[in-house]
Amino acid sequence: MKRLSDIGTIKDILSRHGFTFSKSLGQNFLINPSVCPRMAEFSGADSGVGVIEIGPGIGVLTNELCQLADKVVAVELDKRLLPVLDETLGEYDNLKVVNADVLELDLHKLIKEEFDGMEVVVCANLPYYITSPVIMKLLEDKLPIKAITVMVQKEAAQRICAEVGSRQSGAVTVSVNFYAKPELLFGVSAGSFMPAPKVDSAVIRLDVLSNPPVKVENEEKFFAVVKAAFSQRRKILANSLSSGLSLGKAEIFGILQECGIPENIRAEKLSLQNFADIANCLR
Ligand code: SAM
Repeated sequence: MKRLSDIGTIKDILSRHGFTFSKSLGQNFLINPSVCPRMAEFSGADSGVGVIEIGPGIGVLTNELCQLADKVVAVELDKRLLPVLDETLGEYDNLKVVNADVLELDLHKLIKEEFDGMEVVVCANLPYYITSPVIMKLLEDKLPIKAITVMVQKEAAQRICAEVGSRQSGAVTVSVNFYAKPELLFGVSAGSFMPAPKVDSAVIRLDVLSNPPVKVENEEKFFAVVKAAFSQRRKILANSLSSGLSLGKAEIFGILQECGIPENIRAEKLSLQNFADIANCLR
């Protein structure tokens, strides 16, 4: 097996296949040899475990996952990488590459067909242009997965892993915490990729909860409240909720009072329970 994180090896493989990087597909390939083994280890890939990888690229992380897990299904959108993956990872009989857009894929069906009876985890160096949509799809679809270990931009990692109720928190913090327990694992410098992106990255793990930590009568309403609350960060909560939910100020003040939430508070100060209470009060 060639060292897939070696720049010389990557350049050689890619030039033989006439491959050029696509910026619009978020193609920044890992060239730091220490990152993938750590990610794979943290992901929970092991015997008895099936792994879904999103965007294998030339297979540098896939290679580590295949050595640890019983089975790996790698979903790659760029058709041009299929012959490359055939060359780099063809020796593994526990790997299946699926050529698809992960956002379009029926992951319930994939898990049922490919990983029946196995514990399933997700591990990926995510294409940054779809970080939040991918994470939210994995969580909102309520897939039978144990954990999601992903590389994302450093700022996104900090936002997702911020404490709910702290200054750094945002809609994505609250939404992710409704489904999972996030943890920032380690940082990765921009120079660890080819081509090098402008910003640093970090690896995070989301341990998926079996039940949400707060009781919500209607999840759609809960997420509508979260979205509205953070839609205008500089405004006080009552104003953001009023415009975001198209409700009169008097009604919003009434709801906040009923929930025991101060009228002049900002969204970033609210707890998960506060968001749930507001949603449960909406008629
Ligand atoms: N895993 C490789 C690595 O770490 O070197 C490549 C990671 S690169 C940041 C992101 C990968 O995701 C690319 O291979 C890209 O083609 C693929 N990709 C982009 N959009 C995708 C989508 N919607 N569905 C599946 N794969 C996608």
